[in-house]
Amino acid sequence: MGKYRSWGYSPAQDQAAVRPGWRDFSLESIEGSLLPYGNGRSYGDSCLNSAGRVIDCRQLNRFIAFDREQGILRCEAGVSFEAILEVIVPAGWFLPVTPGTKFVTVGGAIANDIHGKNHHRDGTIGRHVRNFELLRSDGQKLLCSPESNPEFFSATIGGLGLTGCISWAEMQLIPISSSTVDVETSVFHGLDEFYELSAAAHEDYQYTIAWLDCVAEGDRFARGIFMKANHSAGGGIHPAKKSSLPLSVPINFPKWALNKYSVKAFNTCYFYSQKRHAGTNTRQQFDPFFYPLDGIENWNRIYGKDGFFQYQFIVPGSEKLVMDELLRQIVSSGLGSFLAVLKEFGAKKSPGMLSFPRPGICLALDLANRGTRTLRVLDELDQLVMKAGGIVYPAKDNRMSGGAFRAYYPQYEAFSRYIDPRFSSDFWKRVTNGT
Ligand SMILES: Cc1cc2nc3c(=O)[nH]c(=O)nc-3n(C[C@H](O)[C@H](O)[C@H](O)COP(=O)(O)OP(=O)(O)OC[C@H]3O[C@@H](n4cnc5c(N)ncnc54)[C@H](O)[C@@H]3O)c2cc1C
Repeated sequence: MGKYRSWGYSPAQDQAAVRPGWRDFSLESIEGSLLPYGNGRSYGDSCLNSAGRVIDCRQLNRFIAFDREQGILRCEAGVSFEAILEVIVPAGWFLPVTPGTKFVTVGGAIANDIHGKNHHRDGTIGRHVRNFELLRSDGQKLLCSPESNPEFFSATIGGLGLTGCISWAEMQLIPISSSTVDVETSVFHGLDEFYELSAAAHEDYQYTIAWLDCVAEGDRFARGIFMKANHSAGGGIHPAKKSSLPLSVPINFPKWALNKYSVKAFNTCYFYSQKRHAGTNTRQQFDPFFYPLDGIENWNRIYGKDGFFQYQFIVPGSEKLVMDELLRQIVSSGLGSFLAVLKEFGAKKSPGMLSFPRPGICLALDLANRGTRTLRVLDELDQLVMKAGGIVYPAKDNRMSGGAFRAYYPQYEAFSRYIDPRFSSDFWKRVTNGT
């Protein structure tokens, strides 16, 4: 038994776990239903399996091979992106795709086919995975690549850990000549200005991302800060910093501390602090640019002991009116969050059968858990996202209905053929058993 939870801070629960120490372990002798667990950086219940066991992969943390000439890395599935950066950056290589935290494992990143600030250029992590080994509960070890067991390759990328346990994986890195990034910052007022900035940056910048104020109304509606960046051409390579986590949120914030006034105050302060950089070009180490929240340990405690919901969706680029309507609904609900991130995704196709990323406008925001009030707002947002032919990200989800899941992922039946019969998750039970 052990305490396991996801990042949305639903209470940690006791649940049975196995902790394999070697990558040649077998699942055959382990009883009950199974689900791999990476580092619990998924926000909802897709990394939990309360009725069975999790396979805690964090001891599968060894590097296997690193071709420094070609930038090809092979490592066990429990190796974290943080550990990888420590090794590859000094050698002049970088992760081909990285999420907004480096505290994820290779297995977890593949199972959610994660995306990053370079989606418009490079697509998802799955496009850069060359091959991996998949352990099935009947003892089979499948080598999966676009050529070998291609259907398991495609089902496992973005397959939510349901097709088996990845023991190791190999990926293609990207070359860098500097450990810094050159970042240009602009202010926008309204979604139209965001779309213009984004379209103008996509050709020449590898990374684009915007912070959106989801609280401001009136003539401040949809204001935000847009950033575009490239790896610097010079500036030297400095070792990736081992996280010292200088700041920490020591306790769950009390409920009264989080209200529409504190959220509004935070957003206003953030807007004006960033506005100072507008029009400037700054050179910074990659860490604060890619992982701004990793410097604050347990930042999820600011939402208090009831936790929060993260809601991340994409609507097609042609549905700008729906995007506007969604944002108005979020603002008028008064539940808007501190940390709303807006990004235009590109057309590079995800290789995963069930992958979330696709072309369109993506918004991710946190909503404090205010019980039925928050759930009602989220259900209303779902209706709009569905109407626009959009999609919601399971890695961030704790509440979507079975009906909503089936509407977003009609390919789930074809995917189901590749699920390991002994694998399941709380998320999967909820969306396939519920209405
Ligand atoms: C601050 C923050 C920022 C984030 N930013 C982004 C972002 O920009 N883009 C993005 O895409 N996501 C983002 N995420 C979400 C995060 O990247 C994903 O949820 C990621 O999958 C978590 O990895 P993990 O190793 O913690 O895996 P877990 O959360 O523990 O598990 C995730 C899934 O992977 C499966 N899994 C784990 N290990 C294996 C294995 N060995 N074999 C097979 N399946 C396995 C699990 O069963 C589960 O379904 C962010 C999360 C945080 C907290």
